[in-house]
Amino acid sequence: MTNKKYCAPQGLPDYMVIGGQRIKASNAVIETFDPATGNKIGEVPAGTEADVEQAVVSAKTALRGSWRNTTPVERGRLLARVASRLRRDAERFAIVETLDSGKPLAEARGDVETAAYYFEYYAGIADKLQGDSIPLGQNFISFTLHEPVGVTSHIIPWNFPLVTAARGVAPALAAGNTAVVKPASQTPLTAIMLAELMEEEGLPQGVCNVVTGSGRKLGASLTSLPDIAHVTFTGSVATGQEVMRHAADAIASVTLELGGKSPVVVLADADLDAAVTGILKAIYMNAGQVCSAGSRLVIERSAHAALIERLVPAAEALSVGHGLDNPQLGPLISSSQCDIVARYVDSAKSRGVEILTGGMTLHPTGLASSCFYAPTILDNLPDDDITVQEEIFGPVLAVQIVESAEEAIAASNCTRFGLCAGIYTKDISKAMRFARDVEAGQVFINQYFAGGVATPFGGVKHSGFGREKGLAALASYYQIKCVTARI
Ligand code: NAP
Repeated sequence: MTNKKYCAPQGLPDYMVIGGQRIKASNAVIETFDPATGNKIGEVPAGTEADVEQAVVSAKTALRGSWRNTTPVERGRLLARVASRLRRDAERFAIVETLDSGKPLAEARGDVETAAYYFEYYAGIADKLQGDSIPLGQNFISFTLHEPVGVTSHIIPWNFPLVTAARGVAPALAAGNTAVVKPASQTPLTAIMLAELMEEEGLPQGVCNVVTGSGRKLGASLTSLPDIAHVTFTGSVATGQEVMRHAADAIASVTLELGGKSPVVVLADADLDAAVTGILKAIYMNAGQVCSAGSRLVIERSAHAALIERLVPAAEALSVGHGLDNPQLGPLISSSQCDIVARYVDSAKSRGVEILTGGMTLHPTGLASSCFYAPTILDNLPDDDITVQEEIFGPVLAVQIVESAEEAIAASNCTRFGLCAGIYTKDISKAMRFARDVEAGQVFINQYFAGGVATPFGGVKHSGFGREKGLAALASYYQIKCVTARI
């Protein structure tokens, strides 16, 4: 018997949005479940390649017609209205996001606010994307135009469904492009709600289309149809490689935001209480299912005992439960994701790794779900341990002990990933040397996850390339045309 407070709200979308039309399933559907209860909360169409083709045609038509005829200032105003409306409808979006993904309600509310801020932020730039004039002397006039790249494809993961959609669509539309969005099959609802909301606020039909369905089946169309100019992908490394291969067929540019195994370094002189607060958020936010999670803790040996003494009880005190009850830790996205996490930890156990806390599945009272995993800390791991090297995507922190700030940099750089890196220290020179030498797209000093919508985000090495967020994101969404006249 389902607890009523966990029931899905009425009126959830059971359709895709293509060319402004609500397209219901003509054949198969994809069901979506609340991972905390296992209950079905909705279903959406299992879209086909023909649906993707139709979405791209709609996007191309809008690109050449209604959207091209919308002035930059009008585009900006429209995106600003989307931001306001998201804030007005925030609670409904947050509840649906929590039910679909499992994340705690406070985190889902934060995601909706961040999504709104993306639209607000890029609304302000829509009428300021302007080119340069190039001095070639008396006999020439030369200038550049910033033009939209065209139809952009956005492939969205399940860990931040609304935020990732907003992060790509807002700058793409601000720069005058049109979009086709493919949400993850496990969490399709808020992307559809966003597309509807945008059209209600005046976005012309076809400017933002949402196709639901299996990424494996639709992936080739979403990345290689000739009219797709750019693909923004967030997800696993293996799928990112596939996306890049397909995009080569269309000569489409790609932004790949892939996994991470980001270190949080704590040097001996650090404020340990601030470090504990930062580490808990770094690894346990969204139950560790965050590409930029601080999933490795690199501690200078002399601070190890004091830090662990504070960290372990703090991890054990985290509340766990249904996302709508607003715990500090919700379920993982699925039981299979929970199994992956358990396998990594069990393999560590079998190698004799010390488990400081956790290392087991949890079964919160009243929730018939096998998706909960305890906050877990694995101690004193060698650099080549699999739990140091691989992205687990769960609430598992891998601890590496080092002897110095220099060793901390080497330990930080010991994986194939390079998304984020954090450091806690009072020594500005050590912090800056770390920032200079660490292989990462962003560095956080004395506050993990510092920054946000306005700060460029992306990886190096196998964490991908291209930048999202901030003004840097716009580089993917316009091309420069240079006009030169002999006069
Ligand atoms: P994934 O396969 O990379 O899925 C991400 C998105 O890509 C989903 O929308 C997915 O659609 C779509 N997709 C799947 N196959 C595709 C293909 N061949 N071409 C184009 N798009 C395709 O990730 P996952 O399987 O959900 O998760 C596996 C692992 O990826 C996780 O354990 C984690 O390590 C990592 N991950 C990273 C992030 C991140 O933020 N960097 C986010 C999620 C997962 P469907 O949902 O329909 O399959």
